[in-house]
Amino acid sequence: MENLEIARTLEQVADLLEIQGANVFRVRAYRNAARTVSSLGRPVAEMVAAGEDLRQLPGIGEDLSAYLTELVETGRLTLLDELEKQLPGTLSELVRVDGIGPKRARLLHDRLGIDSLAALRKALEAGQLATLRGFGAKSIERIRRSLDEVEARGRRYRLADADQLVRPLLEYLRQAPDVEALEAAGSFRRRMETVGDVDLLAISARPAAVMRRFTRYPDAVRVEAAGTTRGTIVLRSGLHVDLRILPRRAYGAALHYFTGSKAHNIEIRRLGLERGLRISEYGVFQLKRAGGARRIGGAREADVFRAVGLPWIPPELRENRGEIEAARAGTLPHLVDEGDIRGDLQVHTTWSDGRDSVEAMARACATLGYAYLAITDHSAAVTVAGGLDPARLERQWREIAGVRRRVRGVKILRGMEVDILRDGTLDLPDEYLDRLDVVVVAVHSHRTLSRTAMTDRIVRALEHPAVDILAHPTGRLIGEREPYAVDIDAVLEAAAARDVAVEINAQPDRLDLSDILARRARELGVRLVIDTDAHSVDQLRYMTYGVAQARRAWLEAGDVVNTLEPDALERWLNRRRRARRRPAAAKAAS
Ligand SMILES: [Zn+2]
Repeated sequence: MENLEIARTLEQVADLLEIQGANVFRVRAYRNAARTVSSLGRPVAEMVAAGEDLRQLPGIGEDLSAYLTELVETGRLTLLDELEKQLPGTLSELVRVDGIGPKRARLLHDRLGIDSLAALRKALEAGQLATLRGFGAKSIERIRRSLDEVEARGRRYRLADADQLVRPLLEYLRQAPDVEALEAAGSFRRRMETVGDVDLLAISARPAAVMRRFTRYPDAVRVEAAGTTRGTIVLRSGLHVDLRILPRRAYGAALHYFTGSKAHNIEIRRLGLERGLRISEYGVFQLKRAGGARRIGGAREADVFRAVGLPWIPPELRENRGEIEAARAGTLPHLVDEGDIRGDLQVHTTWSDGRDSVEAMARACATLGYAYLAITDHSAAVTVAGGLDPARLERQWREIAGVRRRVRGVKILRGMEVDILRDGTLDLPDEYLDRLDVVVVAVHSHRTLSRTAMTDRIVRALEHPAVDILAHPTGRLIGEREPYAVDIDAVLEAAAARDVAVEINAQPDRLDLSDILARRARELGVRLVIDTDAHSVDQLRYMTYGVAQARRAWLEAGDVVNTLEPDALERWLNRRRRARRRPAAAKAAS
């Protein structure tokens, strides 16, 4: 069982307990545990298999540790089974709808027998909600709108979650006999921030054996189709996975076709037709004047592009957003990749809400081959995260000094994720800002300001001469929270004017800036930085998701600050030195 499913199960337990009216602390314990699991950089299953003590994880005590182990080992949770004897498990879906809390879910269940989103939809259409006390026209409208959203969102999976589901499946399938090629196509291969269904493509001389193994995947709860060359399974998480087994001569064409996007494919097909070619998932065919067609390629993906006179285009760019024109003109970007990354400039530690120490984070970065990292714990305003006031910040600096002596090969920068206060001032006195090597600023409060007020607030913060990086600039959480209202162009223009780098935050639920906005930033001349915002050693691995979005944004290494070698980074960090003294920064960074 993967982390995503474990977290969902724990959330479901919390929902059901809450609907039952259980003790709030008990409910919160399950929610916290769900959050711990879903923000963990590695599979719980791996920890259980390695015999690691789960109680070292935040919010995981004796009981939860046992539950996690049970889930990993059996795929079930006795506790949830027992709760479901009292209330239908699908009842927990209802609380995902805005305007329905646990009490209302209980009421809807007891009075109208509503126990799922589908039942809620029916009751809404039949006008039944209006018969309940407390459900006025306004509140019903709110429920209807939110239900529309929840349904439209459907089941999309954050890229990192999809990764955790698809990778073990690929590994499992590679052990089938005679698998010559195997790849996941679709939005997964294009590294979109969320993924719907997953399409796998394979070549094998023994398709039946591969298909048999596929349909017997232990994490599959349902086999929806199983032909000789095509099958569909549904994983426990609800993820649908298609497998197509192809003849070698068509593999490349199919890979191109199923990778998409649709808009990109339409354009490529059109270019083909202009040249008298038919391009489909079966191959590239020359149309004959007399009718019929002759295969001229399709074994390799490059065949498709070559047929229309183009070089191979990286999957992340295939959105028909100018990549075909750029390929034709020979101006495709040399996309940044993980190997270009030299360090991480947003990392939290136990000094605020991180799980691991400065030293542990530094050692982990050294192991990753990084040249530097910035320790950027929260400032005091973020009290829930244990933000640092100047006195504690100075204590942290003493610790950093010690770690610098012990951990060699990786440069540890003194940084802070400083809160942008409501009026755009920063949550740390100037004398301390000046003594930091890296100043990251971010909004964590007052998200509901008007668009103008929010824009002014952020722009004002960027005008502070100490600021280097604007973190998670829109504040969105994928599938959970919309960006706050802000004139992002005005923010990006201010960042460009001040040479403040803007972040692509690699946390799987943030990916903020998004691909589209990061590309916009680049067009406006803004420097970007890809940070993990890691709150534990494991989360340093999230860099891959930030890099993926950077690639989708057409970024090259030169656009990204943390591809700089340490000397060049230091020069950039000291870029305003002549305009304004930052002596401590230079000293501390050396
Ligand atoms: Zn933050």
